[in-house]
Amino acid sequence: MPLREASQARWRGEYLHIHRADLIEALQGCVVDRAPDAIRLGARVTAYEPSDTGVTAVLSDGEKVTGDLLVGADGIHSTIRTQMLGPDNPRFTGNVAWRAVVPVARLGDYPPPETACVWAGKRRHAVTYRLRRGSLANFVGVVEADQPGDESWTAVGARQQALKDFRGWNPVIQRIIDEAPLLMRWSLYDRPELSKWQEGRVVLLGDACHPMLPFMAQGAVMAIEDAYVLAREVARERPVQESLRVYEMKRKPRATRVQAAARENAALFHRSNPLSQLCTYGPMWVAGKYLPSLVHGRHDWLYGLDVTEPD
Ligand SMILES: Cc1cc2nc3c(=O)[nH]c(=O)nc-3n(C[C@H](O)[C@H](O)[C@H](O)COP(=O)(O)OP(=O)(O)OC[C@H]3O[C@@H](n4cnc5c(N)ncnc54)[C@H](O)[C@@H]3O)c2cc1C
Repeated sequence: MPLREASQARWRGEYLHIHRADLIEALQGCVVDRAPDAIRLGARVTAYEPSDTGVTAVLSDGEKVTGDLLVGADGIHSTIRTQMLGPDNPRFTGNVAWRAVVPVARLGDYPPPETACVWAGKRRHAVTYRLRRGSLANFVGVVEADQPGDESWTAVGARQQALKDFRGWNPVIQRIIDEAPLLMRWSLYDRPELSKWQEGRVVLLGDACHPMLPFMAQGAVMAIEDAYVLAREVARERPVQESLRVYEMKRKPRATRVQAAARENAALFHRSNPLSQLCTYGPMWVAGKYLPSLVHGRHDWLYGLDVTEPD
């Protein structure tokens, strides 16, 4: 389903595929230009200490850093969230995601399509797309699994296992797995909506407050939207605690809706018998080919929102 022109025309923005490292570098460059000392690496926050006038972050080496506000943007295993709300209780979804990035030059006669592609099969699916002007192939392969494993950015999986998971699949997929320099394996867990995102001068953002399954490809997008709205609200002339409450009120319904949509997609891509595959993917294919605006319209609520517009 072509998106390039449709995205500009319908949602006034490009639909981009960006390598995570490139996005982080671009964001870092903007921060350092404005505030050269703003970023400190290797500083692990272990706790926070609130007071009436400020909040103090305690680092693992014992150092304390005090400010007006603490933003817990510390990801799915957030230390700040655990202190604010207690330990969470994630539910294993029964899915495991393989991830790899492979130079297209290594894929010979079997490069993935230049545009994003979902490959749907029995109880598993894969997504391929290109990065860095088409020179890299990105692969995410999701398979159903009985045993939960690590929920970690850095857990590496065995190539033989990945090949087994996609045995008999299209050579494009098998070639990517064969040539991947590294295959990461991430067990997918689900978490319910949090009761709150803020307390006093401490606030959560991104995966720390709304981790989601990757089936809408929107987790990082939601974190960036959060950051924009939070920055705008705290810039207003009013007590910071009130700004944090307004931020939560504005962002929570949207993030929760995207979490739910991602959960629904998990089932959609894993139809296991031929009849249900035909009944699901057939109409999707026909609509994508002949009535793309119908399909695009279903995503207006998601892609159509411009958080930079004044509200
Ligand atoms: C398989 C997979 C595919 C995905 N695909 C997409 C996609 O296509 N599009 C999309 O938008 N999203 C996607 N996502 C989701 C996206 O990666 C996350 O939603 C996003 O990274 C969340 O950003 P964040 O800044 O909230 O958290 P993170 O990216 O996890 O960053 C948290 C940061 O906090 C640091 N940190 C953690 N604890 C501490 C501490 N105690 N002290 C100091 N620092 C700390 C970490 O080192 C890290 O740098 C995908 C996720 C997965 C698993």
